[in-house]
Order: sequence, then structure tokens, then C-alpha cells
Amino acid sequence: MREEHYYRLLNFVEHGLKLADPQIAHILDRALDGKEIDTQECIILLKEDRPLELNLIKMTADFLRWTVCDDIVTFVVNRNINFTNICILRCKFCAFSRPVGHPEGYVLSMDDIRKKVREAISFGSTEVCVQGAINPDLDFEYYIKLLKTIKEEAPWIHIHAFSPQEVYYLSVKSGLSIEEVLKTLRESGLDTMPGTAAEILSDDVRKIICPGKISTEKWIEIIKTAHRLGIRTSATIMYGHVENFEHIANHLKIIREIQKETRGFTEFVLLPFVHYRTELAKMPECRPGSTGMFDAKLCAVSRIFLYKYVKNIQVSWVKLGRRLAQLLLSWGANDLGGTLIEENISHPAGATETTFLTPREFIYMIREAGKIPAERTTVYKILKVYR
Ligand code: SF4
Repeated sequence: MREEHYYRLLNFVEHGLKLADPQIAHILDRALDGKEIDTQECIILLKEDRPLELNLIKMTADFLRWTVCDDIVTFVVNRNINFTNICILRCKFCAFSRPVGHPEGYVLSMDDIRKKVREAISFGSTEVCVQGAINPDLDFEYYIKLLKTIKEEAPWIHIHAFSPQEVYYLSVKSGLSIEEVLKTLRESGLDTMPGTAAEILSDDVRKIICPGKISTEKWIEIIKTAHRLGIRTSATIMYGHVENFEHIANHLKIIREIQKETRGFTEFVLLPFVHYRTELAKMPECRPGSTGMFDAKLCAVSRIFLYKYVKNIQVSWVKLGRRLAQLLLSWGANDLGGTLIEENISHPAGATETTFLTPREFIYMIREAGKIPAERTTVYKILKVYR
């Protein structure tokens, strides 16, 4: 039944392509044939705003999603643990961090960590997502202890932890190589890593929005080292600020090239910039966040561009709001991320969505979008399908 629905959709798209702008029709036709689109074609799609062409981009992405994911839409039951907010970097888009000595700065003790893990277990979490800030008072020992404490409380729980920026910090702080740091973290309990700190992988953008952060080249090196060691990661993009279409297309190309080489990415996560209370939003060259239309278009273009290489496209309900996140399930997305329980990054910047969605809410949202809900693990093993 579902198959028939999607072949009728394909039929409709093929008819539509005959009426569409020939350049767009050519790109989408090749995408439907399973061919790669290049960065110039990606930019053409990102610029498109005519109703017929835009709807054809949407339907192409929806069809391609179905060919790799069926109609299964996943979520993970997890919780966040942000172990410190004290940071020496002060990225301009960040409203979470506090400078050293600030009265609102904090570091979680191991007892705090244990409490949060017990809370995660009580909610049925299979994952804890652990990220902090670059706190000069924390040494490598703290990170190792943190991982071991989590595994002591819940040996089965999946630890998804530490961005490439944190890995780089640990390497500098300890004098160990990136590889040695990653191996030690893995031996202490690390399972996978968030591919955050990617923001936009272009150094001219990074110089404006996060001048203290690792370069594009370093981010790639750390990610590839992790993948080579068998530590899988997500891939992310943080957009809607000073970047242009070319930056986005190049970013997608970097992700696709890494994936061709390593196959280490579990998913690609779209993270629109939440701007309300950030320094970056006050800069004249910065846009006031993304728009729903662009969120949808980028979701579809990401599916088309990464097709065959990155199976899972995740949308962030915290940043988009649950209603827009649900709509994007028809624009190429097949994953809604995690329950989170606690959220400390987007809310200080002005996100207004709740900080916790229950599995029941996910199931309801996904069914209402005409898809089949399923709970997954961090690495996308299906645990339960809610037919
Ligand atoms: S984004 Fe991360 S590294 Fe940058 S200021 Fe915030 S906490 Fe620090």
C-alpha cells in the first residue's frame, strides 16, 4: 500500500519535471536516478523559491527518503548531561557558556553525574549525551572519571560524548595525540561522539562566529581519526547566521567526502541558529536566525545531496519547535533525535520549545505525519516499531 503511494508520488514528480525549469528538472532527474549532485547544483537548489520547483525538490527528497528508510521515523530515549558551562572560547553564537569566575559558572561533581544517570535510567534511556564547555580547570582525569562513573551506574548505557573541540582541548591539555586521547576515552567508556563544533566548515565563517574554535582541517582530522578507531559520530550543520549558499554546499560536500571514505557518520543533523540572546545576532552581517522555509529546503537538499551516503537526516525539535520538525518529515527527514530530558544549549539562546518530549509524544507526532514511529539506539538499531 505504502509502496503504491510512493510510486504514484514518483509518477507525479516525473510529470512535474516536464513542466519545471529545465535546469532544476535536470538536477532532480539525475538525483532520482541515484546520481550525485555537485556543489553548484546544490546551490541552484538552495536558491530555488518558485512554487512548482520548490514542491518538486520537496517531493524528490521525500521519495529518496522512502527508498532508504521506508516510512520508519525514529527517535532515541536519551538525556543530556552538560557537565560544565565555564568556557574560555566564547563563541559568538553561544548563550550557554560563562567565563571563568562568573557567578553562574558550574561544574558537575561525580555525585551530580550519578544522579543524572539514575534519572536517565528511570525514564528508560538507552543513551546519555554528554557535552560541556572548554573549562581550563578540568583536566583529562575529570573526563575519564566522568565516563567511568556513568558506566558504573549503568554499564549498558550508550555514552555519546565530547565534541571534536573537547577532544582537541584534551589533546592540548594532556600532551597526548588526538589518537591517544580518543583511545583512552574509548577504553574509559566512550561509545560514539557528537559531530558538533562543525558549525559551518569554512574557516572564513568560523573566524567570524567562533574565532577560537578548531579549524575546518582540524575538525576533519579529529572526525576521521575517530572513525578510523571505530568511534562513530554524527555530523552537524549550524546555519542561519552569516554563511552563504556556497558555504552550505561546501559543508555538505565535506560531509559526503568523509562518509565515502570512512562510513563513520550515523546521521546528519540540521541545527538552525537560535539567535535571540546571542552576541552574533547583534552583528550587522548576521541574519536573525533561519526561516521555516529555508529549514525545509535545506532538509530536502541535504537528503538529495547526501543520498546513498548518509541514510539518516535528523531534525532538532528543540531548535525548530516540534511542529516544524514534524513537517520536515515530509521534506526528507527520518529522525527526530532524542527525548533529552534536560536542555541547556538552545534555551539560554531563546528557544521556546519544552526541554523534554516523552516517547508517547514522539509516537503521536510521527503517526500524525503519516509515518511509522520506532525507537532506536544511538547507532540506529531499531528497538521497537510502533505500527
Ligand atoms: S559553543 Fe562550546 S566552545 Fe563555544 S563558547 Fe559555547 S561552550 Fe564554549
